[in-house]
Order: sequence, then C-alpha cells, then structure tokens
Amino acid sequence: MEIQHYDWIAYHAGFAPNSPAQQDLYSGRTFSYLQMHQRVDALAGYLQREAGVKPGDRVATLCHNSTDNNEIIFAAPRTGAIHLPLNWRLAVPELEFIINDAEPTVLFYSEEFTEQVAELKRRCKLPHLILKRDGGDSDYEQIMAAGGAPALRHRPKLDDVWVLMYTSGTTGRPKGAQITYRAQFFNAVNATMLTELTRSSKGLTYLPQFHVGGICLYSMPCFHLGAPVAIMRQFDAQQALDLLARPDSGITHVFGVPTNFLFMSQLPGFEAARFDHLVSVGIGGAASPIALLELYAGKGVMFQQGWGMTETCTIGTLLSKERALDKIGSSGQQVLHADLKIIDDAGRELPPGKTGELMIKGPTVTPGYWRRPEANSTTLVDGWLHTGDAAYVDEEGFYFIVDRWKDMFISGGENVYPAEVEDALYRIPDIAEAAVIGIADDKWGEVGRAFIVLKTGSRLNADDILEHCARNLARFKIPKTVRFLAELPHNATGKVTKHALPRD
Ligand code: AMP
Repeated sequence: MEIQHYDWIAYHAGFAPNSPAQQDLYSGRTFSYLQMHQRVDALAGYLQREAGVKPGDRVATLCHNSTDNNEIIFAAPRTGAIHLPLNWRLAVPELEFIINDAEPTVLFYSEEFTEQVAELKRRCKLPHLILKRDGGDSDYEQIMAAGGAPALRHRPKLDDVWVLMYTSGTTGRPKGAQITYRAQFFNAVNATMLTELTRSSKGLTYLPQFHVGGICLYSMPCFHLGAPVAIMRQFDAQQALDLLARPDSGITHVFGVPTNFLFMSQLPGFEAARFDHLVSVGIGGAASPIALLELYAGKGVMFQQGWGMTETCTIGTLLSKERALDKIGSSGQQVLHADLKIIDDAGRELPPGKTGELMIKGPTVTPGYWRRPEANSTTLVDGWLHTGDAAYVDEEGFYFIVDRWKDMFISGGENVYPAEVEDALYRIPDIAEAAVIGIADDKWGEVGRAFIVLKTGSRLNADDILEHCARNLARFKIPKTVRFLAELPHNATGKVTKHALPRD
C-alpha cells in the first residue's frame, strides 16, 4: 500500500485555527494557521486554474526570505507540483542553467530581482511569472485577495518529490537534489525529538529558504507540530542577536552556520546578551571552530551541533545538549531515523577512531538527483549516500567531521585537514575569520595557505600567526603563507567559499 502525505497546514487550521503560524520580520505581517491555510488554498487554486500547473510540474521561486515562500512550499503539494527554490545570489547564466535543467512552469519572483527575471525570460522558457512585494500590491497579493481554493486538492504520496533543491555546486554543474515528502516528514520527527520542539516553541529562520537549512531548521518541524516561526528576510547579525537575546521575542529554537554565530559574537551587544531562555541553539553546515563553541558555552549556550546535507534534508547527526560540553566539537550521534557508517577507499566499514568517508542511508536521503543517472549511480549505492565528508566515530557513537575529502590536501605525504588548522587559528583572539587551503608546492606537493581577517584595530602580523601555529600544530600542518583580507568570500548560506580564495 502506498502511504500518502498529510497536509500539515490544513490539519492545524482545523485543530487550532487561531494559533500563530508565521511572522514576517521584514514586513511585520503575522498569520494564524487558518490564515496561512486559506492563503495556501488561494494560491493552489490559482496555480491550477490560471497557470495550468499539473502534478509533477515545477514551481520556482527567486525571492528573499519571507512568509510568502512558506505559502508557496505548501501550495505546491495541493497541486502536486514540485517546489524549486532558486538561489538569488547566482548570476543569470547560472540561473539559466538551472531553469533549463528543471523547466519550471511558474516562477515567483520578488521585486528586487525584476532585472534578472527580464533577462532570464529572454534566455529561457518561463511560461508564467508572478511578482511578489512582501505584502505590497502585486500579482501575489491579488491572488490572495481573490481567495478561493483548488477544484481538487491533490494528495501526494510519501515518495513523491516535494522540493527540488540545487546544491551549491562548488565543483562541476549544480545538481538538483530531490527531496521527498518522506524526507521532510522524517526530518521533522528527527529534529523535533532531539531539540525538544513542541507546539509552544517558536523557531527563528534566517538561513536562506533556497537552502535546506532555511526550510528544514526549524520551519518545517514547526509547521509539522503547529508551532510558529519567525522569518528574517536575510541574515542580519544585529537583528538576530537582538531577537535571540530578548525573551519577549518568544524565540526558543534557532539553527545557524558557524559564520552566523561568529558575526553575532563580534557585535558590541554580545557580551551583555543572555540566552538562558533559548531551548535549542543548533550549529552546523560547516566546520565549527572549537573556540567559537567554547565562547558560547561560556555564556551558557549548549550548542547542538548537527551534520547534514541538502541530499539528507538536513540533519543526519545531532549533539544532545547534555553532551554538548564533554563532546564539544562533535556533530553528535546519528538521528533516530537514519543509518550511518564510515568506510575506507575500498568500501570496507571502519572501526571507531578511524577516519574515512561518511555514508548515510535512510528515509531522509534523496532518491537521487534530477535527471542525473550517472551521478546517481556513483553517489547512491544500495541506498547508501556517499557524502564526500571525511569523518570518524568514537566508541560511544559520536561523529566528528574532519573535513571534506576534497578539501584535504597532502603535504610531504601527510594528510592535512584545513578545518583543524582553522581551529587552531581561531584560538588567536585577534582573528575575526580564518580559512586555510592547500596550494601547489614544488618541494612538498602541497602546502597550506591561511587567509586571515583581523578584528578592527589589530596589529597582528604573519609571524605572530605562524608562531602560534608552530606552538599548536605539527610542522606539516603549519601554513607556509599568510594572506590578510578585508573579508572572506561567503556563499548565500554563510559558508566560506574556498574555491573563490586566490591560489596564485
Ligand atoms: P550543503 O548541502 O550545502 O548543506 O552542504 C553539506 C556539507 O556541509 C556537508 O557535506 C559537509 O561538508 C558540510 N557540513 C555540514 N554539517 C557540518 C558539520 N557539522 N561540520 C562540518 N561540516 C559540515
């Protein structure tokens, strides 16, 4: 028997119609579950009637974060369509590639992207465009004002695809990871259990909604439970710090990449800020420097570090608050609904303590990339996903992400994991941000190069940094050169884009 997906928003609209569902921090709009349900219905009705959207069609968005995006996410299943969130940081040719690959029937775009959309319309097939203005007069709000509902509400099956999300594509062409209803459901369960999320919690989302972090941590788990979420248009460190430090914001749950927390910690208000009222503060998506984890621990924040990928609909592991201190640096244990293992190059499972490639299997794992049979056959083997991450597990089942396999470099025959070197660099108080890459070297094959952003007013020089490394790292791990930058390049999620760092 095929299991169907249940409509979370419709359920809560009936069960607790006046419960708050969404707060749009930019426009100031708030919506109850009943209001959200009615708006989702109006949208689904319009998509079916006026845009001719059929089950399996793709409905794209090119929008900054807003509560509207969550309405679109939930309207898609009522028509059977697949939601395709586009990364607004991409250049037009990159978006063109994705649009040609995914062939959406509809594109919702927010006003700021009018020029890009006009150019895309010239370059590729975009049958139906819908303008959005964060609550202002627009095609989108006219659809809402007209109201109505779909003639027939589609009932997706658990294995149907809900979201098609293109991965950052740091190497090669971006690939669309297919995220099913099953994955969203099991991720909601995994995340809820481990973070003590309840109907009286409130999530804060500032990660971009075109990334799994912006949807699944913790908007989707909140919608599954009938809890409210607050949506920030784009990450703003000051606004995030103010919200998190103010108990009357009601925020109890938040997740961020290390850069989010790093930037908050560098604000003048950080020292006085108290976070005792927060129930769960999640961190992950990239290597978290121990110094950063310790800084927050000193203020009572027991970071729940998690590891996950677009292909795993976020968390595959999560650290419990109880073990946050004695297992500091670990990404935690595997979530309930997933299997994990570490393998060597020959595919053999490795014992605890040995670094190899992290593999994951389970209901949150993608069934494959959109129209990429070759990539699927190498990435997914017997249901196991090759994550491309170097990791080890300790005797108690706590996972430690060492680095990306491909970020590792070999210096004089020794493996160097840049994340470990960065960890040492972050122990220097004057360093605001650090990134290490391997560059070609005639003598050693490869050597490390450190890119450093100093805190304002610091007079630290390269020798000071190298001396610190010499005291804390084996010789082969010490960067050979240090370059100072005004800022590091980041992708829209806030992760450092190492491929954009100069290698010459
Ligand atoms: P994305 O699909 O863009 O979310 O990127 C997923 C990748 O982010 C993973 O394969 C890891 O390389 C990295 N990542 C996620 N969580 C962690 C973590 N806790 N520690 C280190 N790297 C992480």
